[in-house]
This record gives sequence, structure tokens and C-alpha cells, in this order.
Amino acid sequence: MTCNPSWREIVDELLPGQTAQDRPDLITRIFHAKFEEFKMDVVEKGALGKVIAYVYVIEFQKRGLPHVHMLLILDEIDKPKSPEQYDTFVRAEIPERDEEPRLYDVVLKHMIHNPCGEGRRNSSCMENGVCKRKFPKPFVVSTVQGKNSYPIYRRHGDRPPVPLHENSATFVDNGWVVPYNSWLPLKYDCHVNVEICSSIKSVKYLYKYVHKGVDRVSMEVRAGAEYNEIQQYVDARWVCAPEALWRIYQFPITRMCPSVDRLQLHLQNRQMVRFSTNQSIEDILQMPQNSRTMLTEFFKMNSLDPEARKYLCREFPQRYRWLTATKTWRKRMST
Ligand SMILES: [Zn+2]
Repeated sequence: MTCNPSWREIVDELLPGQTAQDRPDLITRIFHAKFEEFKMDVVEKGALGKVIAYVYVIEFQKRGLPHVHMLLILDEIDKPKSPEQYDTFVRAEIPERDEEPRLYDVVLKHMIHNPCGEGRRNSSCMENGVCKRKFPKPFVVSTVQGKNSYPIYRRHGDRPPVPLHENSATFVDNGWVVPYNSWLPLKYDCHVNVEICSSIKSVKYLYKYVHKGVDRVSMEVRAGAEYNEIQQYVDARWVCAPEALWRIYQFPITRMCPSVDRLQLHLQNRQMVRFSTNQSIEDILQMPQNSRTMLTEFFKMNSLDPEARKYLCREFPQRYRWLTATKTWRKRMST
């Protein structure tokens, strides 16, 4: 989901002469509010089905617009499993203007890949002369399960291209549509790409994507004519104004639910220990921290505290208690 700088809530608050880019505070707060509502709809109210787990990461383009990548895991009963069920969640076609006029406008406004390809080599998606997102997509008469990828969604090729907007010279067909769920862009009036993530490979890909880390930049600092070329290069972190404000407002940048901690699994007294080469084996064995691991303390916590025992049953409504328990447990571990 990507911030729409033309949202009424942003535009209405601009002072004369201002554009949305002049007001990273507005962009940040409105996007945060919209995303809170999105989570309420999708996670709490189950607009796409009952959600049993999710992870999301807020990101910022270099020049600033915030967007979010989110992975939802649905309850078994609500999971789409066949191409026919995929079609009820995700569409990748331009709706018929007469049948769904509002959706037609919204899809053309928010869900069309910026036309690229031959003659548009400067588009940001172009790499070595081809679109890295592989647009335009091929036409297919019905949705099929891709091999180790997202499904290949139905895109009819027998419909005439339509203008991108009133009086536009750019015409697009179903090959240029970014997959969407028809309810979300209608309600949120912004770009919301929805994909079915059905194979383990795409789950792993997405998981890696949501944790790829912060933007970085290599920059050069010069003072006068004399400078040391090597020392003057700085490996820096890139923070745009909306991201800085997101952090100043203390909005969460990522969240995983339920929270999962990976424990070192080992047999009794077979845990890994770290030591310096100058320490004696006796000393190493005497050190209390070497007899404790996250796993042994997890067992200990469960034997001492009846409250702790229920947190393995990570029922969805209990997630906050689970999070608090993890924090308490970490604190006890460190003391
Ligand atoms: Zn492209």
C-alpha cells in the first residue's frame, strides 16, 4: 500500500502555494492513520478472511512517499487454494466501464504500471532495456498456478486498450494492470497491490523482502582542496524527511504477530559456548552464563511461573500478552 499525496485529508490541509512534498508531517500522519484503518479492516475485521499471523514493514522511497509491505497468513478455512478462489481475491484486469464505473476509474488511476518499454527507456523500472517487473504481462484466458511464483492471473487480450485518463494519449490494456483486490483501492483511493503468495518460495522471498534493512548511501565529504580520498568517503544511512518524522512520532516501522523468538536447540549440556583462547577450560565451565541458554531459561521460566506456560498457545487475541511475556522474560534473562 502506497501513500497517495492527493488524498483529500492531505490536500485540504495545505497552505496556499504548498504541495504535499512541502509537508512531510502531513504525509506521515495521514498515511499512518490510513494504515491503522487498513489494519483494522484487514486484520481485526477480516476483510480478506480471518488473519492468524502477519508481518509488515514501513518503507520510504528515496524522495519520501511512505509505503508498506505486508504479508498476511489466513486461517486454513479462508485460504484461497484454487485458481477459481484466487480470482475472488485478486484481479488483474481493467473493469468494464459500464459495469463498474468507480472501480474502472480507480484502477486506471492507481493500479496501472507506469508505461515503460521501448521508447520509454528512462522509466525507473527499466534495467538493461527491459522492465524489471516484466510489464506488460502476457494475456491468459484463466488464472493458473505459477511454478514457484505468484499465480499467473487472468488477463483477457480481446478488449480494446483504453486511455489512461480523459484525453490521454497513452492507451493501456490488461497487460499493464498491477494485481489488486477490488475492495481495497476503492475504499482507500491509493495503490494497493495484492498477490496470492501460494508457494513456499514466494513466502521466503517476501519474508526476505520485508527485512532487507534501511536505505544506505555512499557519500563524499570535501573540505578545501586538500582531502584524503579514502577517509572522505562515508557509508551513510539515508533518511528522508517523512521517515525522520515517522520516527519522531514513534510510529512502528515493523511488526510481526505473533512475535516469534528462535531458541538455540540443544541436548542437555551440549549448548554452544563462547570463550577467549586465553581462558582455561575449568574457568569456562565455572562461568554461570555458560550453563544457561535461552532454551534452558525457557524451561526454567515454565517450571517456575504458571503464567508463562500459556504463552506457547499463541492464540490470536492473546498476542499482546505474548509480547509482554517475551519482554519480561528477556528482562529476567539479562539480570
Ligand atoms: Zn516497467
